[in-house]
Amino acid sequence: MVTSRFAPSPTGRLHLGHAYAARIAHNLARQHHGKFLLRFEDIDHTRVRPEYYQGILDELRFLALHWDEEPWRQLDRLPHYESALETLKSLGVLYPCYCTRREIESELATLTHAPHGPEGPLYPGTCRGLKSPPSDREPAWRLDAEKAAALTGPLSFSDLKHGTHVVDPRLLGDAILARKDIGTSYHLAVVIDDAAQNITHVTRGEDLLHATHLHRVLQKLLGLPEPRYLHHRLIVDDNGHRLAKRNDALSIATLRARGQDIWNHLALPNSDLPDPSFA
Ligand code: GLU
Repeated sequence: MVTSRFAPSPTGRLHLGHAYAARIAHNLARQHHGKFLLRFEDIDHTRVRPEYYQGILDELRFLALHWDEEPWRQLDRLPHYESALETLKSLGVLYPCYCTRREIESELATLTHAPHGPEGPLYPGTCRGLKSPPSDREPAWRLDAEKAAALTGPLSFSDLKHGTHVVDPRLLGDAILARKDIGTSYHLAVVIDDAAQNITHVTRGEDLLHATHLHRVLQKLLGLPEPRYLHHRLIVDDNGHRLAKRNDALSIATLRARGQDIWNHLALPNSDLPDPSFA
């Protein structure tokens, strides 16, 4: 059964960009008489607030985007991420990293050829092969992208809008899969949960297209199914900037309070709406 999801982080109010993403996922499920699921990606536990969870539920109801099952919360699922992390450790594709952000920045500043990805500098690999780890620090866990690539072999994914992509496992470098504070990361949690919720179609913003390369690597290493993808355009404000949660002007709550028609405001382009054959 076609199953899509909307996976907001309850760290602020929903804005037009969220409404757009939710509508795409919702429409896809409804077109195929499938399921539309809601998942709170709340691992940024210091930034989540109870009123943001409630706001998301209220605003989705207001937008008539009704979800089909009890919403999931990633904070309820930490043991699942931990066991996936153990599997990856046993495959030998992770290493502990003790670097602080500041240490990484100063290391990068000393390099003449600092590794770069599409989103900026990549981790320079300081802790890869570390002989004597500091005893006074908890590590984060990073993927050894080279080792992972050697294990998975060639991979690809298909995106409704962007076509077939050959996976570049090194695109995000040695990404953090488990943060020190919470023992997981967006990348690990989303891959585990998409599989656990039997998500067949992952629809999300184009800003996550690069992340999908890493997600395919994790799916392969963990023996998880490959969903289909649709990375849709991002909604921008009048100045061409991506909408941010801190900018309240285009939040659903503000537009709703002003009595504005959200969907008119969005002027949904048909190019992003999945065509019925996307199943
Ligand atoms: N939690 C992410 C966001 O709010 C969505 C990630 C995804 O759909 O995979 O942008």
